[in-house]
Amino acid sequence: APLFEYARNFEHKVAIYDQNGKHTFGSIYEKARSLSAQIAKKLGSGNNERVLFLCPNNVNYVVVLWGIWMAGHTAVPLSHLHPENVLHYYVRDTNSKLLIATPGYEAVIKPVAEQNQTKLHIVKHESSFANHDQTFAAISENDNNAFILYTSGTTGNPKGVVHTHRNVWVQTKTLVDAWKWSPEDVILHTLPLHHVHGTVCALFGPLFSGASTVMMPRFSPDVVWDHLLGNKGQKITVFMAVPTIYSKLIDEFEKTYKSNKEYIRSYLKNNVRLMVSGSAPLPVPLYEKWYEITGHRLLERYGMTEMGICLSNEYDSNREPGYVGVPLPGVSIRLADSNDNHKILLECYNDGEKLKFCKPITEDFSGALLVKGANVFKEYYNKPEATKKEFTEDGWFITGDTCQYSHEKMKFKILGRTSVDIIKSGGYKISALQIETKLLAHPEIKDIAVVGLKDATWGEKIAALVVLEENSNLTLDGLRQWASEYLPKYSLPTVLKTVEVIPKNAMGKVNKKELIKEVFD
Ligand code: ATP
Ligand code: MG
Repeated sequence: APLFEYARNFEHKVAIYDQNGKHTFGSIYEKARSLSAQIAKKLGSGNNERVLFLCPNNVNYVVVLWGIWMAGHTAVPLSHLHPENVLHYYVRDTNSKLLIATPGYEAVIKPVAEQNQTKLHIVKHESSFANHDQTFAAISENDNNAFILYTSGTTGNPKGVVHTHRNVWVQTKTLVDAWKWSPEDVILHTLPLHHVHGTVCALFGPLFSGASTVMMPRFSPDVVWDHLLGNKGQKITVFMAVPTIYSKLIDEFEKTYKSNKEYIRSYLKNNVRLMVSGSAPLPVPLYEKWYEITGHRLLERYGMTEMGICLSNEYDSNREPGYVGVPLPGVSIRLADSNDNHKILLECYNDGEKLKFCKPITEDFSGALLVKGANVFKEYYNKPEATKKEFTEDGWFITGDTCQYSHEKMKFKILGRTSVDIIKSGGYKISALQIETKLLAHPEIKDIAVVGLKDATWGEKIAALVVLEENSNLTLDGLRQWASEYLPKYSLPTVLKTVEVIPKNAMGKVNKKELIKEVFD
């Protein structure tokens, strides 16, 4: 069934706490129903039209999303972080007929609607939600598109990823089981609502399972700490974030809470049951620091807009820093040789009980990561060529990331994006992420991005862009000497460049191609 149907099981429970108070599953469902009638008046119902919407991070987001779904259309979430030209791009790219926004965003969205001759619906204050006898559009799980989510645009123009209701259901249900969501859970939500992390992982999970979501209008480290420590009224049990958020929370801790550290560690250990990291690589030093402060071993998982989450550390067994775990139940993983027509190196499937390999594994493997499963998206919207290019002939999705299987740990590790993070130097293939995670342990390095630069002799040479702690005068030689204890010689940077900050997008990702251009051109 479409996700909103699960709300019926929890009618009187609180689904969302936001700056306007609390909202039960039942009340959200009713408002969405009423909105769906208004949408149907403008667009008809059940015909899969794309409806773009811009809402703040509060209950209205869920009302509008469900309203669009109930009317049988495809929801495309926008973000206030998008500049106007990006909004235009999304409207044109999806050929959208209707834009929905809350009153606060009317001024932003009006010109976009006018220029593209798109209808506009402003969601009025609650009282305008009249009762309508709206019967729902019949929604077919496989044919009706639930969602178009845009990729982060880290490697090019963002692509509109189409997920059917079936895709969304599978992605959500798998995580609910794997991470043991229950109606007793309360998640603190502080992520953008136009990416998989903030939607499927951190919002649909709780909505599906009857848990409550505390929605912050925007991220701010001091308020997150207040919530995590139970100072805002609700007892938080689950938290999810990207690595940069964890590192900002650590800075805030050092500033404000250090003197209280025994209390904080024991409070969080006793009250919070799960803390998750994803969207970008979690450096091991950050994992360790967070463990020291909170007593929580972050559960790292790996996913993409195109498939939700596919690899995750296990909830009950040990969480291995630097690894993203194993395929979730129902997901098949391949490591393949991208230089040899994606020849299979390793294939592995999780049948819900255990991992099944297509042949006995006795050593480590690295290769291009391919994925198959009911979680994998249907297509890039209106881009049949692009869709075709990202699948092998036998239907496996090519993620664009390179991955390693460790025979000893029995877990997978992300080595990085094949196009930018795998540096080819002197005949070696070197993972930029592996270097970053090692060098971040240097006491004077606050942040780092490692990139490959074209080099006549080596093919590529390794450059480290670093943000240094105040008063540091780290030199290339000093760094190489320190690092030679942890890294093979061919992995040591031969260029060191100090920068003020490493620019990251809303999901904490670094666009390395742009970074190289900015710093070195
Ligand atoms: P675009 O496809 O537009 O270039 P993008 O790939 O950044 O942008 P997303 O779908 O938001 O868009 O991000 C998926 C990517 O994020 C993955 O391909 C991977 O490179 C990275 N990623 C996600 N989780 C992890 C993780 N735990 N460790 C390392 N990388 C991760
Ligand atoms: Mg991508």
